[in-house]
Amino acid sequence: MSQNLQTILELQQALSQLRDAEQRLHGIPDWMRELHEEHEIRKAEIESLEAAAAEAARERRTAEAAVQDSQEKLKKYQQQINKVSTQREYGALLQEIDTVKGQISTGEEQALSSLDSAEKAQTELETLREGFREIEERYATEQTRWEAEKPGIAKQVEKLQGRIATLRQQLPRNVVAQFERILERYPSGAVAPVRIIERPGQKQREWHCAACNYRVRPQVVVEIRNGGSLIQCESCKRILYLEAAEPG
Ligand SMILES: [Zn+2]
Repeated sequence: MSQNLQTILELQQALSQLRDAEQRLHGIPDWMRELHEEHEIRKAEIESLEAAAAEAARERRTAEAAVQDSQEKLKKYQQQINKVSTQREYGALLQEIDTVKGQISTGEEQALSSLDSAEKAQTELETLREGFREIEERYATEQTRWEAEKPGIAKQVEKLQGRIATLRQQLPRNVVAQFERILERYPSGAVAPVRIIERPGQKQREWHCAACNYRVRPQVVVEIRNGGSLIQCESCKRILYLEAAEPG
């Protein structure tokens, strides 16, 4: 295998490790994921219940204000009763009074039902918060542990970045450019191993690009083994290499 190819494989490995480390640094670690998800779900439950309680309280205030308005109106109508002079006016006023009394009773029912909803939500909230406290404590503990792990990972990231810079310097500029072009197209990796596929009933061995499965000609396999220039897969253009265990 050529020296450049060897360096490229090391560079690719370091880049993959760097990506992993950065993901670990900025994401949620696997050992914390389950609790993180539970924490998020419970938190969302509490928040939606808090919103429901606030909405019920708002409804209650609106209903109570409406009741108060209607009571004012009722008072006004009752004062007017002594001043009406005709039977028709009297009848109309009685009807207004009836309507407003109906509004008062509806409003009172609404206020009562909102109060009931608010109280229910409040009771449920207390139960949820009680249960959440334990999760929050565990979550805080795990977060502390996670924070304690971060400097180590950050150091690893720094080390990998240094190694990547060194490996890049070891390669000719055009090779780095070629590698980066392919990497841009395939962020998960610019290299691919050549694998033998044994087909039952077929004597001849076939080589394939392990990334895209395109056939690799035996002549190309020889070229890779001899370590001349870098060879790209004819289909996906990834840089091909032979795995150490592969007899080629
Ligand atoms: Zn390929």
